[in-house]
Amino acid sequence: MEMKIGKTTLSLTRGDITEESVDAIVNAANSRLAGGGGVDGAIHRRGGPSIMEECRKIGGCPTGNAVATGGGRLGAKHVIHAVGPVYRGGNSGEPELLRSAYRRSLEVAKEKECKSIAFPSLSTGAYGYPIEEASRIALETVMDFIKEEDWFELVRFVLFTDKDLDVYRKTLEDLGD
Ligand code: ADP
Repeated sequence: MEMKIGKTTLSLTRGDITEESVDAIVNAANSRLAGGGGVDGAIHRRGGPSIMEECRKIGGCPTGNAVATGGGRLGAKHVIHAVGPVYRGGNSGEPELLRSAYRRSLEVAKEKECKSIAFPSLSTGAYGYPIEEASRIALETVMDFIKEEDWFELVRFVLFTDKDLDVYRKTLEDLGD
């Protein structure tokens, strides 16, 4: 699924984000930038050890923020390590923190002059954020940024399962109404 907002193409696709050839891919990192399972494990495995070396030097990243490293052996030039919130019921600032993680990722990508960026579904795996709510925050935040800045050529969400892609697609359709 694809739509055009200004000069930016917003696209939703199913796949493995480590295979994306874009300027930046976003990682669902933890605040210690310590590596983990899920998409983080896949990015470090495929990208090689230079990404973790840079993460160690940076030291950490607060929840709701994002930091950039190189892309190592990945097809992407940069990895933007975004720290989404752990879901604790929804009344602990999770929506704001998730929104901020997306927004900061876009800001950092723009600072690095990236024109194309791919996101996974932040916080909806091990961090337990319900994907219907998370997808609305993800897409709203990205669409708001695109409308404000008109900087990116491509913003893509790479969803890992057909079910996740379906949820994002429905949310995007609802937001368009
Ligand atoms: P978090 O800790 O932020 O919840 P996870 O990595 O556990 O991060 O999960 C985030 C999302 O990334 C989940 O929807 C998961 O299915 C998905 N995911 C896992 N591996 C990949 C991958 N290689 N490419 C894209 N998405 C992935």
